[in-house]
Amino acid sequence: MGQHRIPVRRIQPRYCSNLANTRVTSRERRTTVNKFKTQLASGPSFQDFIKGVSVIRTHAADGEYSDTHGYLSQELEMGNSRKVYFETYGCQMNVNDTEIAWSILQRRGYERTVDLNEADVVLLVTCSIREKAEQTIWNRLQQLKAMKRKRLKTRTPMKIGILGCMAERLKTDLLEQEKLVDVLAGPDAYRDLPRLLTVADGGQQASNVLLSLEETYADIMPVHHAPQGYSAFVSIMRGCDNMCSYCIVPFTRGRERSRPVSSILEEVRMLSDQGVREVTLLGQNVNSYRDTSEQFCGSDPTQLSRGFKTVYRTKQGGLRFSDLLDRVSRIDPDMRIRFTSPHPKDFPDEVLHLIAERGNICKQIHLPAQSGSSQVLKAMRRGYTREAYLDLVKNIKRIIPEVSLSSDFISGFCGETEDDHQQTLTLIREVGYNVGFLFAYSMRKKTHAYHRLQDDVPAEVKQRRLEECISVFREEAARVNTALIGSTELVLVEGESKRSAEDLCGRTDGNMKVIFPKQDVAAQAPESDAAPINAGDYVLVKILSANSQSLRGRALSHSSLRGTDTTMIETCP
Ligand code: SAM
Ligand code: SF4
Repeated sequence: MGQHRIPVRRIQPRYCSNLANTRVTSRERRTTVNKFKTQLASGPSFQDFIKGVSVIRTHAADGEYSDTHGYLSQELEMGNSRKVYFETYGCQMNVNDTEIAWSILQRRGYERTVDLNEADVVLLVTCSIREKAEQTIWNRLQQLKAMKRKRLKTRTPMKIGILGCMAERLKTDLLEQEKLVDVLAGPDAYRDLPRLLTVADGGQQASNVLLSLEETYADIMPVHHAPQGYSAFVSIMRGCDNMCSYCIVPFTRGRERSRPVSSILEEVRMLSDQGVREVTLLGQNVNSYRDTSEQFCGSDPTQLSRGFKTVYRTKQGGLRFSDLLDRVSRIDPDMRIRFTSPHPKDFPDEVLHLIAERGNICKQIHLPAQSGSSQVLKAMRRGYTREAYLDLVKNIKRIIPEVSLSSDFISGFCGETEDDHQQTLTLIREVGYNVGFLFAYSMRKKTHAYHRLQDDVPAEVKQRRLEECISVFREEAARVNTALIGSTELVLVEGESKRSAEDLCGRTDGNMKVIFPKQDVAAQAPESDAAPINAGDYVLVKILSANSQSLRGRALSHSSLRGTDTTMIETCP
């Protein structure tokens, strides 16, 4: 609890490039670097790199994307088999951003390594959401700096790059404070990474932290990670227009923009062809999706959940989240569809009915509440009251009776009283979530709260309230999970359980972890011999026990999603 879970997954490259296999001798590399140094001498100044770049983007004849700059040739921006090591911190968006950044570098002939000791380039994909997240990166930078110093004496220098939200928030302060950081790239600047790394190779620091109104990386096929290739994240929108008073995201990730539906469908089709069994659609406000490209522009106002409002004027037209969800879920009836992180304001009834009707859209909704007190919600600028949130929960449970709900809460926000905190505890009890992400409030510079409100709840009070929230959450989650004992759940198998090689582990439709003994079970139909269970299989599991974190059970038989949803098969093209 208390942290977004980041699965650490083995790399399975899905994008192949001949460039990645091009090896060069150290002599060739020296010649290239010398040529680059000569060009750089007559090139732009450091100032050009910290302000951003003038990049001329061209679409090559084969449809691949290419960036060109007036003063650095493509040849100079090649990775020449240099080895890149990534470390990813924070939310699932960062996992997906890592895949995008790697896809871009792989096209330019970089190689990826999982061994830090052999890395030529170390890239940290960072998070700024709370002070603690940034502190972790600062500590890691100290370790890397020591490593880099040692390395200087022996081999080619190691380059360190900071990618993502922390690069965006701290900008050149980071370069000045941390002299050994070579490259900064904000969340909208990953296309520029090859150039930035080439500049760094010539011995200069390089930075691009420009935010974009359009960048969605629609044409970059991410190189997905998955232990057995069964699950993948697909980014559908970026940025946030909500400006909650505590949150740094609108400043680090920029304005909301959606990736065109055609490129999302293409990626999901490709994943389905590769045997992926579960796709999670990603975005900072995933259900605010609105594709205004091509012919979908219409003029209908965006429908919100009842009783919710926005800080911005109602947006008109575009293809909405329900349209996208409908199309994505029709691609492969045997592929589970999840989405995160949604905002509670964007759950009009049509989205809920679609989730209820479509067998492969998981009946699991993340519904970040943040607080149970209307007074605190107002100070947070969330656009809803406790009553509106509870009405939405009621509506969701009416339309999707078997739904599993999860949430985010912040303890100790500016002005939160003991009574406000008690209201949060009663809300947690009333809703009955099965998973929760709970945080102590962490003041972030630039935000509305930083400028206008007082961070007046003492650290120890925040901590005590956080612990009380966690404890009520655990009780409620245990109660919700215990109600599943005796039921039979369709589980997508992830692999061996971490605790025991005798057990397997998988997830229910509601995203609960299930552990069950490894054993051969009957194949689906016709009734036939028992077959072993592998990662990526769907199996029916009888639930025998439960606690707040997971379920335990016994596998009954192999199964599939198709078997559980006949309407879906009929409506699929
Ligand atoms: N967009 C989603 C929403 O607001 O409905 C949530 C995404 S946000 C990136 C992830 C979570 O981080 C938030 O729901 C909130 O609970 C937490 N968070 C954001 N800013 C925070 C801060 N300054 N201190 C503590 N937690 C914070
Ligand atoms: Fe942050 Fe609010 Fe946007 Fe969520 S909706 S990312 S909490 S500003």
